[in-house]
Amino acid sequence: PIEQANVSIMTNALHYGIGIFGGIKAYDSPTGSAIFRLDDHLLRMQQSCKILRFPYDFNIESARRKILDLAVKNNIADTTYIRPLVYRSDTNLSPGIPGEYDLAVYMLEMDSYMPRDKGVSVCVSSWQRNADNALPPRTKATGGYLNSALAINDAQESGYDSAILLDSNGNVGEGAVMNLFIVKNGTLITPTADADILEGITRRTVIELASELKIPVIERTISRSELYTADEVFFCGTAVEVSWCSKIDNVEISKKRGKLTAKISDAFDNLPITHPQLFTSIKHE
Ligand code: PMP
Repeated sequence: PIEQANVSIMTNALHYGIGIFGGIKAYDSPTGSAIFRLDDHLLRMQQSCKILRFPYDFNIESARRKILDLAVKNNIADTTYIRPLVYRSDTNLSPGIPGEYDLAVYMLEMDSYMPRDKGVSVCVSSWQRNADNALPPRTKATGGYLNSALAINDAQESGYDSAILLDSNGNVGEGAVMNLFIVKNGTLITPTADADILEGITRRTVIELASELKIPVIERTISRSELYTADEVFFCGTAVEVSWCSKIDNVEISKKRGKLTAKISDAFDNLPITHPQLFTSIKHE
């Protein structure tokens, strides 16, 4: 029971953001609830621990087992968001990497959380994305999300839904908690992995789907000013799925979901049927 899962107020991770997490989703599939790209998420968590030198032996097999067992215990149905967290669990006062670590997992029902009907309105944030040599965004470190929170807060105080962050070179990076694609002349364009982004698992899926649908994709630097004249812009991520963008800095991008965005978004929604190999079934006893 969640109310019995107590941690000390002195927990080191709470004070210094020393942790890494995953954001994973389970969907209904023809064979019951199934988790999307579970091992890819777990590999990213393992790699995050390695990059940050956490003395925690992140075992993919054991994490997978724990998540699947918990999904059964929770009797999950519908669309469920799964949150595994590796955190520094001791109560030592100082910020530091050596220490004790633990894995916690919780899950809750969640539908897409961006406005899909009216499109997402964003600004380009005045906050810059964490640079790779300051707080590597590819690690999904808990502390790094203060950067996302600042950008989202700033955006929402000004009436936008969310924000796009520029990278340390002043080029387009990603949304506050989501990757970004623009469409120009029938081609999908997304920033490269060195643009201070989290290398999203949905981003990778979109690139693969585009290739299957014979839609050209280019990974390259995107300048801020290119955003405003894009034919279509969409965001992608585990929580936001594929969400179309209506406005950037109050400049209208499109009035409705664009043609290629719709193709990708529909293909993404159909994955449990078209690509069952990307899903891990939850076997209820
Ligand atoms: N960028 C950031 C900063 C995120 O937090 C997320 C959500 N995990 C994404 C991109 C999308 O990544 P994914 O598709 O793996 O969920």
